Amino acid sequence: MRIFTTGISQESNSFNPLKSTYDDFVIYSGKEFRDTPGVAAIIEEGFDVAESIYARAVPGGTLRFDDFMRLVDEMLSPLMDGGAFDGVFLPMHGALDVEYIGSGETYVVSRVREIVGPEVPISVALDMHANNTYTLIGLCNIMYGYRTAPHIDVAETHVRAAKLLIRALREGVMPHTEIIRIPYIMPGENMMTESGMGKQIIDFLPSIESEPGVWCASYFVGMTWVDCPQNGAAVLVTGVGDLSGGMERARELAQFVWDNRGDFKYQGTALEPEAAVEFVKSHKSGGLVILSDSADNVTAGAAGDNALMLNMFLRHKISGVLIAAITDPRAVEECSRHGAGSRIDIVIGSAFDKDSETCTIQGATIKKLTLDLPGDKPASAVLSCNGIDILLFSKRKPVPDEDVLSEHGLSLRDYNILVVKQGYLTPRLKEAAKHEVLALTPGNCYQLVERINFKKMRRPMYPLDAAECIDPKRLFEQI
Ligand SMILES: [Zn+2]
Repeated sequence: MRIFTTGISQESNSFNPLKSTYDDFVIYSGKEFRDTPGVAAIIEEGFDVAESIYARAVPGGTLRFDDFMRLVDEMLSPLMDGGAFDGVFLPMHGALDVEYIGSGETYVVSRVREIVGPEVPISVALDMHANNTYTLIGLCNIMYGYRTAPHIDVAETHVRAAKLLIRALREGVMPHTEIIRIPYIMPGENMMTESGMGKQIIDFLPSIESEPGVWCASYFVGMTWVDCPQNGAAVLVTGVGDLSGGMERARELAQFVWDNRGDFKYQGTALEPEAAVEFVKSHKSGGLVILSDSADNVTAGAAGDNALMLNMFLRHKISGVLIAAITDPRAVEECSRHGAGSRIDIVIGSAFDKDSETCTIQGATIKKLTLDLPGDKPASAVLSCNGIDILLFSKRKPVPDEDVLSEHGLSLRDYNILVVKQGYLTPRLKEAAKHEVLALTPGNCYQLVERINFKKMRRPMYPLDAAECIDPKRLFEQI
């Protein structure tokens, strides 16, 4: 039996004005493609795989239409070249927003379905932050999402979705997927899965899966910072035949989420920006303090160019600080022209987003320059001013751990305070932090979602609208 597999994974942030492009993607092909977990699992089971590519990018702004089409052409070329396929496996994200067309995943699956026809099962692996359209659900047979945040089960999810496809082929059945939408948006930070509400939701899923006919159940938080009608939380149930037992349990889960909507909170300390800086000041002598500039969270697609926190730390005259990183290609270029060791007056920030703050620094020292790292790593400059070091990147890139800092000649040992552009901290940074605080800054990933000006969002939607606006009888209506 022959399986077609390809994939695209990028989480979009439609509030970031910097559009994503083809060059933001890392393309896996050949052996690298065959070694991706889902594909490897299919090959191990003895199936033929028609090779394509898997395209993956760091979260970013809406993907440009032409660049998306170029990727889709490459992804689907083995399918266009002909031959029959028995099944399709597509590892994707679910929150890819494409210029002019919206959901990129829906477009890909529509194209695939047109080619393979209605009799070939399609299995899709998705991120927990997917915003699933009805069309996508109608066209896919199997849909399965991550169960952890932070996501530590990516490989496991791909393998499980691939194995469910194999099961469909071996049993000769066509599963289908059903959805219950919950009119509730929240930042991913409010649904971590190690404890609290997030853990209770994930722990509930096996009970849906124990119902007759159900093969898998998934809970999707949604990706809040994509302005689209399909945003919001959802429970998806995949299986064969009558899934009414599973859907009844899924409805119980949706009701549980709705009834406890006030209890989804960030589990750490989250404070308005001024209070967050005060928190840092009062804890800085007790080990490393990490502050998340949450609205400029590069790992959730923000521009990463806001100097707001830098301005606040300068104003408060706090020293021993590393700000890692602010994306500003023009500033990196300017530093490289002057050379390491020089002193310069420079304006940094707001490289892409006009709503981001700039910071004017007089007499900053260029401490380090790293201009020739291999691969897709950014060039960088480290500026030093009034006890604050600022890592500047030539392009958007997260700083998930100390390894990235050491590539740019920096060590956490030299600082009391680290400012990162993340939401919840990556596990390795969390481990390194003695104290941590999430600053509720304004920007592309605003945690206070009720303050965001959504234009395309389906309404009513909690907490943009009061819960009382929603007729309880129509709460989970599939509209
Ligand atoms: Zn995610």
